[in-house]
Amino acid sequence: MHHFQYKNNELFCEDVPVRELAEQFGTPCYVYSHATLCHHFMVFDQAFADVPHLTCFSVKSNSNLAILSLFASLGGGVDIVSGGELFRARRAGVPPERIVYSGVGKTREEIDYALREGILMFNIESTQELETINTRAAEMGVSANIALRVNPDVDPKTHPYISTGMKKNKFGIDIESAIKAYERARSLDHIQILGLDCHIGSQLTEVSPFVDALRRLRVLIERLADIGIGIRFLDLGGGLGIVYDQETPPHPHEYALAIKEELTGVPCTLIFEPGRVIVGNAGILLGKVLYTKRTLHKNFVILDAAMNDLVRPSLYGSYHHIQPVIRQEREMEVVDIVGPICESGDFLARDRGLPMMRPGDYLAVMSAGAYGFTMSSNYNTRPRCPEILVKGSEVHVVRRRETWEDLVCLESIPEFLRTAPAAASGSSL
Ligand SMILES: *Cc1c(COP(=O)(O)O)cnc(C)c1O
Repeated sequence: MHHFQYKNNELFCEDVPVRELAEQFGTPCYVYSHATLCHHFMVFDQAFADVPHLTCFSVKSNSNLAILSLFASLGGGVDIVSGGELFRARRAGVPPERIVYSGVGKTREEIDYALREGILMFNIESTQELETINTRAAEMGVSANIALRVNPDVDPKTHPYISTGMKKNKFGIDIESAIKAYERARSLDHIQILGLDCHIGSQLTEVSPFVDALRRLRVLIERLADIGIGIRFLDLGGGLGIVYDQETPPHPHEYALAIKEELTGVPCTLIFEPGRVIVGNAGILLGKVLYTKRTLHKNFVILDAAMNDLVRPSLYGSYHHIQPVIRQEREMEVVDIVGPICESGDFLARDRGLPMMRPGDYLAVMSAGAYGFTMSSNYNTRPRCPEILVKGSEVHVVRRRETWEDLVCLESIPEFLRTAPAAASGSSL
């Protein structure tokens, strides 16, 4: 359920006509619905209301400060994967005791920063990382709270780029080696074992891989208990899928039910790291048609939004529903919806049926709230989009559009290149 609906053939975000946003803030531009964000967070969080748990929103899916601070205000924590994300989370007011830190390549500086902030726990992904964190904690005279991220070797049946819990993936510690790693962790003076973690992939549309992983973790928890290692926090990662096209992902209630059933008698506080399921359908990307082009083989709709703004179609071949902001009676045609970037991989949709577009028409790329803005880049020296948060009839710019000045402000030309070009070529030739 989301709050992007047509009223009299005009697309609205909550009470605001999307066309007005496009006209006021220009395109391309991201628009988020506050009511949808709240609703999705609450539905997920409340599905576990009857068990001790903490919902740690995955910052990498949408890291805007306003959105992080919204979830913090609803009682959520965050899952971070870099020092930059920790900085954002703290800036947004997320309390450190609600922050978990995942990622296979934490640097010394990032580890030190997280230790200084006193986060809830590090999700450790290798034995070398465990040793490094122990050393850093010793140096700082503190103790590091940790969970080991294990790789349960289950197939999440999702796109290979977003499956993370199979033997061939770089993430986590093999479940067979986990006992040894926990014993090593126990022997380290500046490590405090707090939990067990896994995250098997993203955009999962079935419950069974979660349940399979959980069964393996359960066995591990029991074996750890046998050797006197207690697990207080069981972190089950994120990964619940959403509807982009024809998928039928489990409702959070269904997911919660299956998990709770599998965990009866396990006395752990559960941690979840949902990203996509909370924000995916709470955001859209708006673009304007610049040109239409008919060739012998194909028809193209050329938008001002491109792969640098939303890379998912190019990177994963992902489907995003794309619809006109104003619905009109027009003939249908089959088109590729592409951007202005100089790459043939720059498309938002291929062979898509769409009413005949004209220059100046607006299109809405749906389900763009997760891994949309956060994966955007400045490729082709394109300023990144503004992000607009709509709350009822209120409109808030939560990130302004980048300017051309913004794009060059970190660069400098060395002194030796600063001579006038004409003089330089004259003297060297
Ligand atoms: C990306 C990621 C998530 C969030 O995944 P979603 O599919 O967006 O729910 C959670 N945990 C970790 C460790 C991740 O890398």
